[in-house]
Amino acid sequence: MELNDLYRDVILDHNRRPRNFGALEPADASVEGFNPMCGDRLTVRLRLDEDRISDIRFEGQGCAISTASASLMTEAVKGKTRAEALQLFDRVHRLLTDDAAPPADELGKLAALSGVREYPARVKCASLCWHTLASALRAADSSSLAAVTTE
Ligand code: ZN
Repeated sequence: MELNDLYRDVILDHNRRPRNFGALEPADASVEGFNPMCGDRLTVRLRLDEDRISDIRFEGQGCAISTASASLMTEAVKGKTRAEALQLFDRVHRLLTDDAAPPADELGKLAALSGVREYPARVKCASLCWHTLASALRAADSSSLAAVTTE
């Protein structure tokens, strides 16, 4: 099986059956993300246990890439600390944008997102959920734990 086929299967699977999709109440942070280039909209909600993401869910509507990316993202960061999640965000961002990014073997299924690099117009679709996650982690950091909305 070609590597690209494998990647495509992961994306199709996570678009068809998104993981951690739905509402999360109550949540420590709730942030809405919007990608005007494509029209993708999603809301990321998460719960923190001390510094660890104890639960995370997303909902919204978007293209296959944005939905699959959000599904993969929630799977990857659940149980991670804030710092670990942000580190992963950096790693994925490089994977999406940097042709010289090192091989992504240790990223597991997230490596499937590297296929998006060949379609620059879709990079924002794939990175939307990650930017939204970063905003949610910042929002949860505030003492009030209030929900915020960003675009
Ligand atoms: Zn999109």
